[in-house]
Amino acid sequence: MTSDGPRRLSVLPKTTWDVIVVGGGITGAGVFELAGRRGLSCLLLEQGDFASGTSSKSGKLVHGGIRYLKQGQFQTTWHSVRERERLLKRFPGLVAPLTFLYPIRRGSPTGRLLAKIGLSLYDLMAGRRDHRHLSLEGLLALAPSLSQSATHDGYSFHDALTDDARLVLRVIEAGRVGGNAALNYVAARDLLRTIQGEVRGVAAEDILTGASAEIEARVVINAAGAWTDDLRARLGLSRRLRRLRGSHLVFSGKKFPLRAAVGLAGPVDSRSMYVLPWEGVTLMGTTDLDHQGSLDQEPSITPVEGDYLLTTIRHWFEDLDLTEADVMSTFAGVRPVVDTGKADPSKESREHVVWADQGLVTVTGGKLTTFGLLARDALAAAGPWLDGGDGARPPEEEASDVPPAPALDPSVWTRLAARYGRRAPALVEAAPSRDLEAVPGTDVLWAELSWAAGREDVRHLDDLLLRRVRLGLLLPEGGADLLDRVQAAAGPVLGWDEDRWRQERERYGRLWRCHYSPELIRP
Ligand SMILES: Cc1cc2nc3c(=O)[nH]c(=O)nc-3n(C[C@H](O)[C@H](O)[C@H](O)COP(=O)(O)OP(=O)(O)OC[C@H]3O[C@@H](n4cnc5c(N)ncnc54)[C@H](O)[C@@H]3O)c2cc1C
Repeated sequence: MTSDGPRRLSVLPKTTWDVIVVGGGITGAGVFELAGRRGLSCLLLEQGDFASGTSSKSGKLVHGGIRYLKQGQFQTTWHSVRERERLLKRFPGLVAPLTFLYPIRRGSPTGRLLAKIGLSLYDLMAGRRDHRHLSLEGLLALAPSLSQSATHDGYSFHDALTDDARLVLRVIEAGRVGGNAALNYVAARDLLRTIQGEVRGVAAEDILTGASAEIEARVVINAAGAWTDDLRARLGLSRRLRRLRGSHLVFSGKKFPLRAAVGLAGPVDSRSMYVLPWEGVTLMGTTDLDHQGSLDQEPSITPVEGDYLLTTIRHWFEDLDLTEADVMSTFAGVRPVVDTGKADPSKESREHVVWADQGLVTVTGGKLTTFGLLARDALAAAGPWLDGGDGARPPEEEASDVPPAPALDPSVWTRLAARYGRRAPALVEAAPSRDLEAVPGTDVLWAELSWAAGREDVRHLDDLLLRRVRLGLLLPEGGADLLDRVQAAAGPVLGWDEDRWRQERERYGRLWRCHYSPELIRP
């Protein structure tokens, strides 16, 4: 990725584009990349950092969504299973198979029957028999800390796991072809319109410098996630979306070790939740509540949500005796879903929608897993404003194309190839050997920090620590103890003076305390 300096808007290679994409989460990234593959000129604008919206706060699952079957959302699951299979092939390592356990509660024979039917359907959709029945002993062999008093028997099956923010970055990077550009910290403030009222571009503002520019396009694609209604309101269109907050707890892998993901039914309301091993920690989620807060601020977990999640975890993992004190970090994201006024937010459909209005194509809803499908549907809806651009080239840059790096431990190399694709060899080459060591308590290499700082559009310290690498979620206090070493690793490439580092460290600390800290779940 390039660092394009302070005059980012004025040095864009074009003033008129085929497509402007608003939003640099997974949906916008997918549209951007597909537009490039179709030979369209495309500019992506993200008002914050890439993936700073919901796409860095998902459950990290690339999955069919077994729970959607329970709610009769067969199409969502069908689409998701197919996309999961595609992504496993396209991003080996970054999208990796994950064993999932589904324990059946004691005294719940209907639970077993429903799980069996759901998992058989799931297999049918994937075109292979995968699920298997497990006795209590079989379950405990894979998840020894599962509570024996809560569990009778269960099933195992497979889904997949990813690093959501890195997936966004890989897809954006793959879309930077033929002069197509993606800029973070540039907001689309307004829509430009012809006298007839057709959208013909956006009024953009560079958040870092205050510079503004009018940028024209044949079609604007609104992939603004939870903010989607705001851009549509510029055309006088009414609000259609419901914003649902989902929150997660993060436990240290030492306190809560787990080798497989476990699907959990809430002990009080039977809602589906999960706990899973990710990057050496254990994630537990999620809640599903109407989000009333302003989107100008990142969402945060509340004590009520923390209590709800901890109650579930204590029920299923009784012997671990987990308390608030064992939570290392938290995070919350806001899901945009079409509002049909259902009393139970979890019953609102997770299927995506595409609306085309006067040259503004809106694409929203869906899942991280289905971003490819959202992109295809959005560009199909943009067809009337674009001619040609139908046949897409196949995706470039598969991690499996990357040559092996002989001097490295194979597991380290797999990690780098998955996250950095064809750039992985350059990352290794650029790193002094001491930086090929992992940050204590994680699998993240110090070399990743300096690489990301120099090549991946890092504008703030939180971009680096929360999204390029995930130290903010993986370490106690968001890695506060390591900030001097982070400064030493990333400082030479970022070029910030002492005063800027002080401001950035303060900003990061503030953000972490307000939106990622375990203190947030204390009443
Ligand atoms: C708690 C939770 C758990 C989830 N778990 C999973 C999971 O395990 N698997 C799965 O497949 N899906 C999951 N999802 C769903 C998935 O995370 C979302 O569907 C997906 O991330 C949405 O991506 P997006 O790009 O549409 O939105 P976002 O990631 O929010 O991106 C929209 C972007 O638009 C930007 N933007 C807004 N307005 C403007 C503007 N005017 N100018 C420029 N930029 C703008 C925002 O800053 C934002 O970054 C989960 C969702 C939640 C909430």
